[in-house]
Amino acid sequence: MALGLDIIISEMRVVSRLRKVAALLAWDQETYMPTGGAAARADQLSLILSLAHGRFTGSDFRHSLGQFVDLESGQVTRNNLQIHEIRMLEMTWRDWRHDVSIPVEFIRDLALLTSKAQQVWEQAREKSDFALFAPYLEKIVVMKRQEAEYLGYQDEPYDALIDIFEPGMTSRKLEALFNALRPVLVNLSTQIRQANRPNRRPILTQNYEESIQWEFGLEVLTDMGYDFSRGRQDRSAHPFTTDFHPTDVRITTRLNPNDLAMGLFGTIHEGGHALYEQGLDERYFGTPLCEAISLGIHESQSRLWENYVGRSRPFWMWYYPRLQKRFPGQLGKVSLDDFYAAINAVAPTPIRVEADEVTYNLHIMLRFDLERAMLNGSVAIKDLPELWNAKMQEYLGITPKNDAEGVLQDIHWSLGAIGYFPTYTLGNLYGRQLYEAARQQIDGLEDRIAKGDLKSLREWLHTNIYRVGRAKTADELMLELSGRSLSTEPFNRYLEDKYGQLYDL
Ligand code: ZN
Repeated sequence: MALGLDIIISEMRVVSRLRKVAALLAWDQETYMPTGGAAARADQLSLILSLAHGRFTGSDFRHSLGQFVDLESGQVTRNNLQIHEIRMLEMTWRDWRHDVSIPVEFIRDLALLTSKAQQVWEQAREKSDFALFAPYLEKIVVMKRQEAEYLGYQDEPYDALIDIFEPGMTSRKLEALFNALRPVLVNLSTQIRQANRPNRRPILTQNYEESIQWEFGLEVLTDMGYDFSRGRQDRSAHPFTTDFHPTDVRITTRLNPNDLAMGLFGTIHEGGHALYEQGLDERYFGTPLCEAISLGIHESQSRLWENYVGRSRPFWMWYYPRLQKRFPGQLGKVSLDDFYAAINAVAPTPIRVEADEVTYNLHIMLRFDLERAMLNGSVAIKDLPELWNAKMQEYLGITPKNDAEGVLQDIHWSLGAIGYFPTYTLGNLYGRQLYEAARQQIDGLEDRIAKGDLKSLREWLHTNIYRVGRAKTADELMLELSGRSLSTEPFNRYLEDKYGQLYDL
């Protein structure tokens, strides 16, 4: 290792450990913390995170990094480094530059604003009253525009915000992808509606004992290769995955006795995220080489397991008899075909998180359109509800009955997370393209899945994606594994084949 590189790495490890302590406090907050502890916990979290931030942006770290990288351009200036070391330094500079570009007072003001905005958003959603939330959203958008100025961008301020979550992605690239996706989705969902097939959803909304749902979820997670000696599952209001080190990666799930799909697919989804984190190379802990490439690639791993494996027929050829054995009263007389139709039922809903595979991305496109317009100032905040409903009608053919199930449904904007939504659709697209690469490269993949072998797929993902860390960009990863940059084509073809069969189109 080049002299001095170990100093940077050990500094980064300190920063990382502090951040992971904060993540542990946050995990506890969402799972077991008594409600009375909220204020003290907020203080603890803010202290730890500001220590981490101070260390990462302080003069010592700047000095160490400056030994290897031109701090203005990000160019690595030493020439005796290995390729993975160069990439590690480039990515570290990227993160460092992001953090030093934004003044500490700005971060503090935004945190104060969003913590208040989140409370107001909750009330506004409860009362279905957008006017309550509007002044806060207005301030958040002003601050986000400012943040974009601090970070810099080429074409439009929204690009700077997207780039935080998905390095290298821009509004223009997303627009091109979405334009190739939208007509296929709108057309497919219209055809499905007109096909008028029997609705099998009620199969999933009988009474399903929670403890048995839980046990079945553990069986699937174990088969996927989630390592319970380096992880655990708990319950929380909103499912999530968090990690403190590749040796301690935790997931949460949410169960509903009258909705089998919610817990089951939520568990598989988080399991997909967790496999990625458990599979990162711990030798590089604290550095970008032990981190996920982007949120979109992270989401590709959860969607791959949830939808392309978990909602596939081969998967249920193996698991359905096992599920029937656990719920003989509910499923004993339901055929595999009907169950498969139930878990893949398509029906437009105003709520994003309840949407099926066909309509889900239309919800994201709507949010993309509105976020971009907000950032560019081409829409007044007060007009958002109306615009939301018009787009909903245009894309999905439905109108929300109020703002609570319309413009107020998601927490993201109140947290200041603008530019985040597109990563969900990117996850679906990357996920399908990567799954098809795996199918080409693993002999008889779907026959294996139909025999309960999920290990072959996980090992392929482990070698080709998890171990890579941020040594490759998302685009490099796609090119290397699938031979092309991200495209909507594999996803569109998948939907047309699958739902064409299911709905006799
Ligand atoms: Zn996810």
